[in-house]
Amino acid sequence: MDSFDVVIIGAGAAGLFCAGVAGQLGLSVLLIDHAPKLAEKVRIAGGGRCNFTNRELDPRAPHKHFLGENPHFCRSALSRYTAQDFIDLVRRHGIPFHEKHKGQLFGDRSSEDFIRMLLAECDAGGVVRWQPASVQAVRQAAERWELDTDRGTVQSARLVVATGGLSIPQIGASDFGLRLARQFGHRVIDPRPALVPLTFDGEAWQPYAQLAGLALPVRVETGDKKQRMAFDEDLLFTHRGLSGPAILQISSYWRPGTPLRLDLAPSENLGAELLQAKARSKRLVANELASHVPARLADAWVQQDASWQRPVNEASDKALVALATRLSQWELVPTGSEGWRKAEVMAGGVDTRELGSQSMESRRHPGLHFIGEVVDVTGWLGGYNFQWAWSSAWACAQAMAAARA
Ligand SMILES: Cc1cc2nc3c(=O)[nH]c(=O)nc-3n(C[C@H](O)[C@H](O)[C@H](O)COP(=O)(O)OP(=O)(O)OC[C@H]3O[C@@H](n4cnc5c(N)ncnc54)[C@H](O)[C@@H]3O)c2cc1C
Repeated sequence: MDSFDVVIIGAGAAGLFCAGVAGQLGLSVLLIDHAPKLAEKVRIAGGGRCNFTNRELDPRAPHKHFLGENPHFCRSALSRYTAQDFIDLVRRHGIPFHEKHKGQLFGDRSSEDFIRMLLAECDAGGVVRWQPASVQAVRQAAERWELDTDRGTVQSARLVVATGGLSIPQIGASDFGLRLARQFGHRVIDPRPALVPLTFDGEAWQPYAQLAGLALPVRVETGDKKQRMAFDEDLLFTHRGLSGPAILQISSYWRPGTPLRLDLAPSENLGAELLQAKARSKRLVANELASHVPARLADAWVQQDASWQRPVNEASDKALVALATRLSQWELVPTGSEGWRKAEVMAGGVDTRELGSQSMESRRHPGLHFIGEVVDVTGWLGGYNFQWAWSSAWACAQAMAAARA
C-alpha cells in the first residue's frame, strides 16, 4: 500500500499551495483531484487574469473583509502568511501584475502564470499528483488515514481536505469535503451561494428588464440598524435581476426575504438638483434626470409615473422630490439568486469552532485538516478568497511539518 506523510484531497488554490509548502518542508505529499483539468477556478478567476490577493487586507481586522460565524478565526493564518508574502512569491516567479480598483492585484497576462507557479512549487517539494483520481472512502485506522481511491488504497499520517466550495459544479465542485466533515462528526454551517447575482420576480422586474446591460455606480445596503452592511460599487442590470460588484458583495450578506436599499445617484443631492432645474429649465424631467444618472435609466424611470412625464417646470415639487427619493432610496426584495451556477464562492462550510486557527486541524480528529473555501470563511470580492486559500494552506503545512519534526 502506498504511504505518505500527507494526503491532500483537492488540487485547487489551497491544495496546490499547501502541497508545495509541505513538500518543501520535507513531508512526503500526495495530492489527489477528481477533475480532468487542473485548478479550473484559478484559471477562470478574475476574468482569466486571477485577482490573486488584495493590498487592503488587514489581518488585524479580518471581519472587515471576511464573513463566517466566527470572523476572528482567520486572523492567525492571515497575519502569519500575508498578502505581501504571496506578492513576494509571485515576484520570485517573475509574474508581472498590476493593481486595479481598491487594492485588487491581477496578473498582467493570464491565470496560467499562477497555475504554473503553483505547480513549480509542488515540483520543488517532490509532490506526487494523482489527477484525475477519485476517493471512494476515507477511514481512520490506528492513528493513520486510509483512503480507497481508483488507483488503490493509500495511507497517510495526515489528511488535508481542500475540496473547495459548491459553486460551479460543472468544473469539479463537489460536496465531498462537507460530507467528509460530517462523517467525522464536524458541524457544517449551511452552505449558501455568495458573491452571486440576485434575481427578481419576472413580472415585477419587467419595467427594469429593458435596462439589461446598463452599469452605474451605486450605494447598496442590506440588514437592519444592528447589522447594516453597505457597499459603494458598480451595479449591473441583467435580464433577470441585478449583478455587478455592488450586488455580488452585498449578496454575501443578504438574507432571503429581506430588502435591499439602493441609492442610484449616491454622489448627488437629486431632490435639490431637480428643484433647482425646475426654476430655470423647460426640458423634460427625463432629460434633466439624465444629467445625473444614465439616460437609459432616466427614461425607464419616468415611465413609472405620469407626473414625471412632462417638462420639469410643469412638474410639482412633490412629484420631483418623490422621483428623487425613489431613485435614492429604492427598496426592493430579491426573490432569490442565480445560485451555484453563477456564485463565485460558497458561504458557510466546516464550522471553524472545531478547528485550530493556527493549524486548520480538527479538534475532534487530530491529523485531519480543512483549508480554503470548504471552511466557513468567506472573503469579499477582490482577491480575499484566494488570500484565505494561500494563508490557510500555508498555516496547515507549517503545522504539519512542525508536528513531525
Ligand atoms: C468564476 C470565479 C471567479 C473567481 N475569481 C476570483 C478572484 O479573482 N479572486 C479570488 O480571490 N477568488 C476568486 N474566486 C474564488 C476562488 O476561486 C476560490 O475561493 C478558491 O479557488 C478556493 O480555493 P480552494 O482550493 O479552497 O478551492 P478550489 O480552488 O475550488 O479547489 C478545489 C479542488 O477540489 C477538487 N475537488 C472537489 N471535489 C473533489 C473530490 N470529491 N475529489 C477530489 N477532488 C475534488 C476540485 O476539482 C478542485 O480542483 C472565483 C471563483 C469563481 C467561481
